[in-house]
Amino acid sequence: MTTDYKSSVFLPKTDFPMRAGLAKKEPELLKRWADMKLFHRLRAESRGRPKFVLHDGPPYANGNLHIGHALNKILKDLVTRTQQMLGKDSHYVPGWDCHGLPIEWKIEEEYRAKNQDKDAVPVGEFRRQCRAFADHWIGVQREEFKRLGVEGDWENYYSTMAYDSEAVIAGELGKFLMNGGLYKGSKAVLWSVVEKTALAEAEIEYHDHTSDTVHVRFPVVKSKGGKLDGASVVIWTTTPWTIPGNRALAFGPDIAYALVEVAEVGEGSRAKAGEKMVLAKELVGAVGETAKFTPKVLGDLAPEDFDGLLAAHPLRGQGYDFDVRLLPGGFVTADAGTGFVHIAPGHGADDYELGVANGVEVPDTVAEDGSYYPHVPLFAGKKVYTAQGVRGDANRAVSDALDKAGKLLAFGRIRHSYPHSWRSKAPVIFRNAPQWFIAMDKPIAEIGGTLREKALAAIDATRFVPQAGYNRLRSMIEQRPDWCVSRQRAWGVPITVFVNKETGEPLRDPEVMARVVEAFRAEGADVWFESPPERFLGNKYKAEDFEQVKDILDVWFDSGSTHVFTLEGNPELKWPADLYLEGSDQHRGWFHSSLLESCGTRGRAPYDGVLTHGFTLDEQGRKMSKSLGNITAPQAVCDQYGADILRLWVVGTDYTEDQRIGPEILKHQAEAYRRLRNTLRYLLGSLAGYSAVEKVAYADMPELERWVLHRLAELDAAFRPAVDDFDFHKIATELHNFCAVDLSAFYFDIRKDAIYCDAPTGLRRRAARTVMAELFSFLTAWLAPITCFTAEEAWLARPDDVPDGAAESVHLRLYPEIPAAWLDAGLGEKWKTVRALRRVVTGALELERAEKRIGSSLQAAPHVHATKEYIAAMKDLDLVELCITSGGELIEGEPAATDFKLPDVPGVGVAPLLAEGNKCARCWQVLREVGKSAKHPLLCERCEGAVSEA
Ligand SMILES: [Zn+2]
Repeated sequence: MTTDYKSSVFLPKTDFPMRAGLAKKEPELLKRWADMKLFHRLRAESRGRPKFVLHDGPPYANGNLHIGHALNKILKDLVTRTQQMLGKDSHYVPGWDCHGLPIEWKIEEEYRAKNQDKDAVPVGEFRRQCRAFADHWIGVQREEFKRLGVEGDWENYYSTMAYDSEAVIAGELGKFLMNGGLYKGSKAVLWSVVEKTALAEAEIEYHDHTSDTVHVRFPVVKSKGGKLDGASVVIWTTTPWTIPGNRALAFGPDIAYALVEVAEVGEGSRAKAGEKMVLAKELVGAVGETAKFTPKVLGDLAPEDFDGLLAAHPLRGQGYDFDVRLLPGGFVTADAGTGFVHIAPGHGADDYELGVANGVEVPDTVAEDGSYYPHVPLFAGKKVYTAQGVRGDANRAVSDALDKAGKLLAFGRIRHSYPHSWRSKAPVIFRNAPQWFIAMDKPIAEIGGTLREKALAAIDATRFVPQAGYNRLRSMIEQRPDWCVSRQRAWGVPITVFVNKETGEPLRDPEVMARVVEAFRAEGADVWFESPPERFLGNKYKAEDFEQVKDILDVWFDSGSTHVFTLEGNPELKWPADLYLEGSDQHRGWFHSSLLESCGTRGRAPYDGVLTHGFTLDEQGRKMSKSLGNITAPQAVCDQYGADILRLWVVGTDYTEDQRIGPEILKHQAEAYRRLRNTLRYLLGSLAGYSAVEKVAYADMPELERWVLHRLAELDAAFRPAVDDFDFHKIATELHNFCAVDLSAFYFDIRKDAIYCDAPTGLRRRAARTVMAELFSFLTAWLAPITCFTAEEAWLARPDDVPDGAAESVHLRLYPEIPAAWLDAGLGEKWKTVRALRRVVTGALELERAEKRIGSSLQAAPHVHATKEYIAAMKDLDLVELCITSGGELIEGEPAATDFKLPDVPGVGVAPLLAEGNKCARCWQVLREVGKSAKHPLLCERCEGAVSEA
């Protein structure tokens, strides 16, 4: 006879280790998924289910991933995996954006390092080098994304530089060409002198910059009733170099103006005593101060006084002999300057629009390299900025000429926020340049309205998460000018247009466009630069009659077309996509360009929903930067902690806001992970050897087990809508609380005794193991999209007979169907009362332990005084089992004065009496029966039975 009862206790047993070792384990799991062709298995098993398509916004292929990429892709992975597990066919194709300036810039840098002249390299060769560069980084980023556990069709990814994609992009532009949406215009665009190209708003950043400022007189030559003849309209500008491009003046219709006389002149002033000026009333003092004169207001002016007013250009008589009109402009303010704006339609967006609306000439004054054209009087060849982005001699020359002509009133400098190229960091200018545009307000028969109308209607029909995205995108589309789609660069999809030399009209011939598309599909877009134009024009046209456009497309047009070459007509996917998901900066980027591209060609958005997330900052809320040394690199997190920790961090944050990450936050996440892992480990340990024959039917289960199943049903009912709301934070938080509060501190605690010590055939133990098998099935399924590695690791350690146990991978499963009977609201309410009572008992026993009156709760046999509702809730329940004591009594009545009580549980009092008897050597309960058996004098009756059975 043995008295080593310890070996007869069913201690938890599992191969699922306590220490995760994710950095080593995760790559093994990735290999397993690759070997079993998990993605293909998923597709095969999901065939015929409703499709869900999250269309991937392509990252740019030019460097290692940063934490922002990781957040974005993990969020996408959460969406696609949760939708898959809801029972859909959630097919995800990742993609890359490959064309554009940043890669060109890298290749040019390599040339500069080798002292090679870029312009001497044939464009085809340059493009091939760009392609190889992008290809390399796609390979690197692909491996980095896979390491994060992101599941997708990594073998069949899309890229904007694939020949098929280039062909489709050219074809999409062809649609705009044919339907009249594409036109050649001349417009002031943000222009980089250094890079010699137009820049999109998204390629601009604002930095402080010191600009020259001038106050300039425009002499009035004609006014209503001659009232203002002889006076000057004074303007103030921070870009003196735009004066040669001046063709009009603007005033604010709501601003009060005055006619002013120079009363007294200060030292060094360029003002003349007695001269008259027109100024905004509230700026009279400021102008007087700057130009060093004492003003005298002669009288107020009404807007009617400006009707028909004509001024002379300040350089009249030197090649600028036209009249300059004074026009009302809503954009004019009296915040600074004079209350008048000089209008150079070739050098500003407001200027351009006001000019065009009033039939004012839009002159070309500044060339691509930032110098005045040869036809510009006085200033030909002077430079606004040099090729290095340094201030040129134009401002000085213009100021000197104005001064010499007696029209300069004051000269100064100002430090202000000014647009710079995000790439070269050099200041940019507004410059009139021939460009290709997609019209926003032109009625297009094919789409049944204007592009702006269609895009606004599409926004109204789109679901935004969070809702703020709706207004953001809408106001951008409401206000945006026509879309400038041309760039004067080399690495991109060319604007495949021929312009008739005689008429200036673009050739609109579907046959020509079809030949272009076909050639691109076969050999890539390089052929546009390397093949003779006859290849595309065919026999119908003579090549010498046409100019072949060599500009390339704005890369936003490329990425705006990904929905076409990835989704449309692809039987595996569908168009439109269910969801686009990107950082909130993409309201002006990808969401925006995709919307315009799709509305302009198909009349609707390429997506039904748009989800946006914030940006990732360091722990102090600062932007991450090399110089601050506060960068958290996803690769380093994977190496130190594992990707699952990063994934837990993603669900732990509110992605709609900016998030923070750093060493402390990661440590905290690793801690939360350990608790989660321990829950899985405890379940696996308790289920050692579990088999289906043990299974207990729902109706035969103890109430405690049925309550756990009720909780699962409650969670399931909350989680499914949360998946459709993309509220992963809610799921993760509830799962965490369920594991910590309902399971570890309650259910597992109570059932430890039954699992360890009951006989294997005992109903209580079998019921507990049946429920634990359900818990394991439920938890691994709901954790699978979140901690995709750990859920799989736990799944691989499962006993075969757990529900769904035949599934080879946790990721091949769906969320378990919860039987309707499990949801039992009455039981849920009842157990709230039970748990409140229990809380008072455990509180009392904790105090006893702290006071060292007992060592464990098993030494106690409390008397619990409770009012009627508690007694009713406890009917049929075992106080001793629930409170993990060796005895105890439930007594109806008001608590005694000496009882332990909790203020939030009125009506319950506990007298923590000691249990009487001997401690069972096996289960440690203190019972009078222990010692009475001749065969097992150290055991209680239950344990004696269990030992005999074994
Ligand atoms: Zn015992």
